Amino acid sequence: MPPRPDLGPKPHLGYTQSRIERAAELRGDDAAIARLAAQTAAGAYVIGGDWIVLKKAAPLNEALFTFDEARALGAPGETVFLGLINGAGRFGYGLSPAAAEALKNSERHLVTDLRSIAVQGLVAAAHLPPIAEAKAVLHWHLRHRFCSNCGAPTQVTQAGWKRDCAACKAEHFPRTDPVAIMLATMGDQCLLGRSPRFLPTMWSCLAGFIEPGEAIEDAVRRETREEAGIACGRVIYVHSQPWPFPSSLMIGCHAEALSRDIVVDRTELEDARWFSKAEVESMLLRRHPQGLTTPPPVAIAHHLIRAWLEDEIGFD
Ligand SMILES: [Zn+2]
Repeated sequence: MPPRPDLGPKPHLGYTQSRIERAAELRGDDAAIARLAAQTAAGAYVIGGDWIVLKKAAPLNEALFTFDEARALGAPGETVFLGLINGAGRFGYGLSPAAAEALKNSERHLVTDLRSIAVQGLVAAAHLPPIAEAKAVLHWHLRHRFCSNCGAPTQVTQAGWKRDCAACKAEHFPRTDPVAIMLATMGDQCLLGRSPRFLPTMWSCLAGFIEPGEAIEDAVRRETREEAGIACGRVIYVHSQPWPFPSSLMIGCHAEALSRDIVVDRTELEDARWFSKAEVESMLLRRHPQGLTTPPPVAIAHHLIRAWLEDEIGFD
């Protein structure tokens, strides 16, 4: 057996390992939430749609605002209680996307999207999970102002974790959409694909939404068959990752490929092909002779590929 490749220290998987204690039991206690918000240790992440507002600083920008600072930026939309860190309240403060975008002209603020923040390391890594949490919930509020049952306007309750309809009494909760992302492997080779949206040199795992009534394993097999014509047998869960674009949960798996002949679904993928471990290792280490790459460490695909290279999980 060849020695395990030396891929260096294992990078952090973006948006995971949140330090936030969600303290869901406080969500219904308006007085407790108000007290937490009034404390000097309270902090809010300011988000307007896809835009995250940061305070410019070096070497890292500051992601947390006091409520006074946040209110000075624009009228609040929804506010969500994210939880506690060392007893201090953490909140998401929703601005309108237009108000956030207008702050791009501010000298003191940096307004950018969460992907850029994560990939470029624009804030301390510990801020990424609560920003992801806030972004997902605030986005849900932007799109769920009216009851999906009767059409009446809904009201925010539970410190931002629920919307109630006074007209028909329906209760609405923030949703998370599961996505299966998988690395199909056969012996020394793995299957990677390219979306037309990718950088021209990047290859990644296949992925797709898990549908109602479908098990994770069945979604892995279906997506691999639909997108690349490859049949899969065993499926092993590896990692998961919140992916707030806008509200997904990536469920990362390895899949045992049972067939080799690829038939690419050109409506989904630009291309798909088999790669050897040696080639994928050079892509992950950014040493590929043609400059091909795997996704950066902020993406779960990077970790699924790395786990396979390092023989952490296998079907043999
Ligand atoms: Zn209703």
